[in-house]
Amino acid sequence: MSSLQELVRPELRGQTPYGAPQLDVPVALNTNESSYPVPQVVVDQIARDVAEVAVSLNRYPDREFTRLRELLAGYLRRTTGEPVTAQQVWAANGSNEVLQHIVQAFGGAGRTALGFTPSYSMHPLISERNGTTWVDGLRDADPSKFDLDGDLAVDQTRRHDPELIFLCSPNNPTGTALDLDIVRRVYDATERAIVVVDEAYTEFSREGTPSAVSLLPGRDRLVVSRTMSKAFAFAGARLGYLAAATEFSDLLRLVRLPYHLSTVTQAVACAALEHTDTMLAMVDKIKTTRDDLLEGCAALGLQPVPSDANFVLVGGFDDAAATWQALLDRGVLVRDVGIPHHLRITAGTPEENDTALRALRAVLEGEYA
Ligand SMILES: *Cc1c(COP(=O)(O)O)cnc(C)c1O
Repeated sequence: MSSLQELVRPELRGQTPYGAPQLDVPVALNTNESSYPVPQVVVDQIARDVAEVAVSLNRYPDREFTRLRELLAGYLRRTTGEPVTAQQVWAANGSNEVLQHIVQAFGGAGRTALGFTPSYSMHPLISERNGTTWVDGLRDADPSKFDLDGDLAVDQTRRHDPELIFLCSPNNPTGTALDLDIVRRVYDATERAIVVVDEAYTEFSREGTPSAVSLLPGRDRLVVSRTMSKAFAFAGARLGYLAAATEFSDLLRLVRLPYHLSTVTQAVACAALEHTDTMLAMVDKIKTTRDDLLEGCAALGLQPVPSDANFVLVGGFDDAAATWQALLDRGVLVRDVGIPHHLRITAGTPEENDTALRALRAVLEGEYA
């Protein structure tokens, strides 16, 4: 008899599943959610719209999620000024599923994906789980620098000649947005790689940071992925999307499961998009509290990395794992992303930030007393 461990696909043997801790703590600042609840007017709209579609749940949903794509395209047009059409847009249950569709369509056995570490841990995970070889590229020759070095990115692109390249802007977990010139140069350094720019946090970017959506015209291999999980305060709804060439989005129909977006998901996401301004109302406030959090950490003698996102990567800890645990003991859950001496802290409400900073101060004073 074989154990299931022996029967499972070889590349899965001994692997552990994705698992950011979901703990019941007073202050959860570990998964970059919005700390603000969905506004009541949107809650009411969602309740009405879900009640309206509930009677038709005997039928499969609109496989083409037509209305949702139109609303998403409208949102992209309005916020980027670019002529994005509904046919260019694709959506799925979270941008993780969008990324998985891309890997299923363009990666796979015998193919390679390149990313620049440290970056979003799901890029390698989704690639490898789907049989794609992952190459851990460097962001900078000096590992203590987190901005992506353009020359180095181009060199690595040429050297590895991958089928897929993941860029992340603003980058998770380091926080800064990418100069579009680097996206252009990486794209031009290869004739065959699909270049994915993961813009999960783009709405939190500092003033004057353009979206890679502006680079789409004339670049058929470029894809910009987005999510409603962060700026839209909608992580529980599971709705991610992308913009790319129409032909690209058309190809993803080959790998999606039939009717992958439920009628309920479509209704809920459309309701939120109809209230875009209300849903995004907290973004400016979060940008301010992020900057306050950054300054608060600097005032404690720590080394926060500049951020275009709703989180701050903070360096300067003697022992990041021990600090993580000590903060948790004080009811504050942050993220140990595995970068030595660093922790990632999501910007919370002003009260949550204060609690986190007070806990940090107490821990640091204990540490160095
Ligand atoms: C949070 C995050 C996502 C969002 O994933 P969803 O599946 O849409 O919730 C995607 N990319 C990055 C870099 C993220 O940090």
